[in-house]
Amino acid sequence: MSDNRNWDQLYIGGHWVEPAGSGRITVISPVTEEPFGATPDATTDDVDRAVAAARRAFDEGEWPLLDPMERAAVLRRFADIYLSHLDEMAELVTGEMGSPISFSHLGQSAGPWKLIDLYADMAADFPWEEERAGLAGGRVLVRQEPTGVVGAIAPWNVPQVTIMSKLAPALLAGCAVIVKPSPETPLDALLMAQWIDEAGFPEGVVSVIPGGREVGEHLVRSGGVDKIAFTGSTAAGRRIGAICGEALRRVSLELGGKSAAIVLEDADVERTVQGLRFASFVNSGQACAAQTRVLAPQSRYDEVVDAMAAVADDLVVGDPADAATEIGPMVAQRQQARVSGYIDIGRDEGARIVAGGTGMPEGVDRGWYVKPTIFAGDNSMRVAREEIFGPVIVVIPYSDERDAIRIANDSDFGLAGSVWTADKAHGLDVARRIRTGTIGVNKYGPDFVGPFGGYKASGIGREYGVEGLEEFVEVKNIAP
Ligand code: NAD
Repeated sequence: MSDNRNWDQLYIGGHWVEPAGSGRITVISPVTEEPFGATPDATTDDVDRAVAAARRAFDEGEWPLLDPMERAAVLRRFADIYLSHLDEMAELVTGEMGSPISFSHLGQSAGPWKLIDLYADMAADFPWEEERAGLAGGRVLVRQEPTGVVGAIAPWNVPQVTIMSKLAPALLAGCAVIVKPSPETPLDALLMAQWIDEAGFPEGVVSVIPGGREVGEHLVRSGGVDKIAFTGSTAAGRRIGAICGEALRRVSLELGGKSAAIVLEDADVERTVQGLRFASFVNSGQACAAQTRVLAPQSRYDEVVDAMAAVADDLVVGDPADAATEIGPMVAQRQQARVSGYIDIGRDEGARIVAGGTGMPEGVDRGWYVKPTIFAGDNSMRVAREEIFGPVIVVIPYSDERDAIRIANDSDFGLAGSVWTADKAHGLDVARRIRTGTIGVNKYGPDFVGPFGGYKASGIGREYGVEGLEEFVEVKNIAP
């Protein structure tokens, strides 16, 4: 089929091929609850074919041996093709998983394109080979070599960013990559494969095989894979980490979060909650780095609770294809049920609902929507400790700044965070004391130039920045 919603073939080893099985993935629109598109459902045989092609490309092909500038040139072609299709990608992702289009233009298309460019730019200055004077008078040559065959496993919430943060640096490093997108978002991945194909990567270097958990785990267990780069839930990350640990396979894990926004005593509450309007509710709350715990000083607690409730009530909920929409549907009925379940859990454990609650938001009568919900609660509650992955926020009181830092750090996770204050220098001091991978002062939104990743159960390793490239190299010491 010629449109970008219906695909009959998989992209394996640089060719469009018939899938090994006859299974199909049907993508259901979270807005209409009707079929939106379909792709083949890859099987373990497809994984084996992709791994064999990648192995050949890496072990016998020219790709890992090319000058990094030559690899960057192919990445640059890919980036140029991607750039000419940004709107198409944004609209496709919005259609398949319901991301509000205003966010899709940024986070689901322009962002991933920028990542390709960022890594192509790094080719010139990365220390691929560095000479050091030896202690005994000789020389030491330190080389950064590609890790090998990479299995890149991605989630559905920001499908293109989480693919590109692995694919672009791995390709620049000289790796061969097998992309396993989520079964909720296979369409954007195959559209991207089309642009990979046009860019002219050598045979075997890239495969894209949408499939479920079983296919993902087969890739993780494959002896032909040197490194797994995974983004997804902490539960799946633990399992993948255990398998890779047993096999001594390299692994990086980008997992869940429960990030704290610390509102300091001197903060301008109205400016703070307008910042959190994006930072807490971005992508309808289906964001690993969403600021889902808002910590407010006891003295201003009611003021912050009321202001957050006003923001939640004011959010535009509706069709994600509409430019004004801030909150779209949840990706799937299962996710709607999960988020609604947490709203029940919060109420049952004594958190006070000050905005939202269960049931469909006003103005929508179908689709997998939930109401943006604000709880007044405390940090011991499950709604404050577990990742909900929807537009549900808990406002938590603290007694003094020490207490705020303690509460922010009292979490299994450590992915993101923010500090809101009239005194930026002081905010920076507080930010330094939070055990988290990324944090902003009076804003949240990590820049791709810097690293992104988790402390604690939020993961192992880093993406973006030069640190994201270092995840795909082995370091070799040569005595020349
Ligand atoms: P998920 O863990 O269910 O699935 C993620 C991917 O892993 C999918 O492709 C899935 O098919 C595959 N998978 C699942 N179990 C597997 C296994 N045992 N072996 C191999 N592959 C397996 O997560 P999800 O629901 O798709 O995504 C939401 C989660 O992703 C949230 O927890 C969110 O916080 C996290 N996330 C983290 C980041 C980050 O950068 N830290 C970014 C986006 C999303």
